[in-house]
Amino acid sequence: MSLDGRYDPENIFAKIVRGEIPAATVFEDVDTLAFMDAFPQARGHSLVIHKRSAARNLLDIDPADLAAVMTTVQRVARAVRAALSPDGLVVTQFNGAPAGQTVFHLHVHVIPRWNDIALGRHGEGGMAEASALKTLAAMIAERIE
Ligand code: 5GP
Repeated sequence: MSLDGRYDPENIFAKIVRGEIPAATVFEDVDTLAFMDAFPQARGHSLVIHKRSAARNLLDIDPADLAAVMTTVQRVARAVRAALSPDGLVVTQFNGAPAGQTVFHLHVHVIPRWNDIALGRHGEGGMAEASALKTLAAMIAERIE
């Protein structure tokens, strides 16, 4: 799917928002939701989405909704740092399939990095254990301010 197109309400993140499929929740407020990536590129890889915006990517999201998403990104990034003590943090966001986007509901990745651990490849990692993701989500949630 390229940059243009219709928002599909059956995308996997819309299903997570509606509670139709489970996710390891890190943080939720009235506008946004943060949860663990099921195919993490690193331990603690989290995703942040807007719960109501029918935006597929950076180009079509309302600026106020984007501001809410980015405020939660910062909050989650701070909590990831406090919980997991990474040496660095990558924040990424992909627009359109040629750019690497696979889920067409705008989302931002928060990926902790450690000096001696190589970053997993985007979209090529294995599925994490649900229980391990829950444990990590709880550790990060505990450090949300
Ligand atoms: P994108 O490639 O669109 O930037 O990112 C989509 C992300 O969603 C990927 O990092 C992928 O691992 C993650 N993902 C795909 N399916 C699921 C799922 O069912 N649950 C969760 N929590 N993450 C998913």
